[in-house]
Amino acid sequence: MSNNESAITLFNGKSGLEVLVPRQIAENKKERALPASYNGMMICIVGIKTTAGRFLPVSHEGDSNETYIDKVELLGTRRVEFIARKQKGIERRAHMRLFRDLTEQTIVDQPWQDSFRAWFGRECEIPNDLCTLCWNDSLFGSLVAGKGATFSRVRYFDSYSLESVDDCVAMLGSEEGMAIGNTVGENLSEKRGDASLHYYEYVKAGTHFPFITIIENATLLDLAGLLQATKMADVHGYGKYSTNHGKFATEVLAVAAGMPHFSVLDMLAWGGSGLGELRSHFDPAKPQVKFDAITGGEAPSVYQPSAFDALAGTLSSQFKLYASELSKEITRKK
Ligand SMILES: [Zn+2]
Repeated sequence: MSNNESAITLFNGKSGLEVLVPRQIAENKKERALPASYNGMMICIVGIKTTAGRFLPVSHEGDSNETYIDKVELLGTRRVEFIARKQKGIERRAHMRLFRDLTEQTIVDQPWQDSFRAWFGRECEIPNDLCTLCWNDSLFGSLVAGKGATFSRVRYFDSYSLESVDDCVAMLGSEEGMAIGNTVGENLSEKRGDASLHYYEYVKAGTHFPFITIIENATLLDLAGLLQATKMADVHGYGKYSTNHGKFATEVLAVAAGMPHFSVLDMLAWGGSGLGELRSHFDPAKPQVKFDAITGGEAPSVYQPSAFDALAGTLSSQFKLYASELSKEITRKK
């Protein structure tokens, strides 16, 4: 495939939307579920996330007044760990905001809540009142106790900083030292003392995290939507303690219709010789990475960042198609 083609061409003109439309479970039953259909598409997104401010990747919750970020020894370097679950959680919430926005842009005469109730029977709240039928649940999975579960179609992988902890973390003993803030549980009626202060380590701005995300049974709407949700999550922020923290810039290096022949660890090794070396593996003129098609052979891939831009325009047209399929399904059900 020519590298100048748009990422849309990976879908060969198919939307793949059938996996997103809930169906009646049986002729005589009222209940609906997302179909267990298989559309044969697998999409892989590869890129680099760069911190644009302080970032606190913390995998545990706690009320302690000291916060230490997750670190791990890997490929001979102590690195910051950015776990898949964290990335997925933030992108899921960003995706839900996008989903509601798109719904109001498409069904303009009512609030998104009314459209969601008509389409899915409820408003669908993350994480405790999921509907199991909507685009967000289909992509990120849903579990409703006693009712069933939908497996997630999107797969995230743990990532690690390209830079060593010594270079990219402000901590005890580093030049910056730990940061100081107020504790969340501070009692404002009492005089401030040591207990009202919160000490925390943070990842400095300009730290790079290579990432790989895979969407199984992917639809064109999923790809366009996830790229847009990522941009929203970057601005919203990933990570604990303050919504002002964890801002990122995401650079997409490749989108392919198949499985990567390499891992995040390989990307860290390439980046060990500099960011340029890592990027050069995805050079549109001479890519040095491979993706395998599900059916064997090499998967079609796009490496040209400008070729991903066309997807933004696709988002609203694919969403209109999804909304009209949902409305048709409701009419059929009645
Ligand atoms: Zn839902």
